[in-house]
Amino acid sequence: MAKRVTSRRVKIHRQYTYDQAATALEVSLQTVRGWRKEGLPVLTSKIPHLIIGAELKAFLDRRTIKSKLTLSLEQFRCMRCGGPVAAYGGMVDYIPLTPTRGVLSTLCATCEGACTKFASRAQVDDLSQILSVTICNSR
Ligand SMILES: [Zn+2]
Repeated sequence: MAKRVTSRRVKIHRQYTYDQAATALEVSLQTVRGWRKEGLPVLTSKIPHLIIGAELKAFLDRRTIKSKLTLSLEQFRCMRCGGPVAAYGGMVDYIPLTPTRGVLSTLCATCEGACTKFASRAQVDDLSQILSVTICNSR
């Protein structure tokens, strides 16, 4: 698994050369160059090329969010905790929106905050093998 890079080390009012960004974030120069190919904005009007701290932070945060969205079927993303969490008490409600798709709704096992995610009806059938799923009436 790729090493997680924390954007907290980035100072948003600073500008970084590739070298400085690599040092600040403890990653290789190759990694920083790779980010540019992935869409990190870089100021190329001067040499050395500069990365704006605020852009770097936003870029890293977007990447983190993307990786957090990869949840297994029984996991939810809690807006409060931020990370993948389990369903409180193993209980989940399914609210159908269409005959094939709907929303899964549960409480976070960690903080009891509300968590929802979209799911297909087929996923719900799989999920009901693992968790206690209540099928609600469509609204
Ligand atoms: Zn939570």
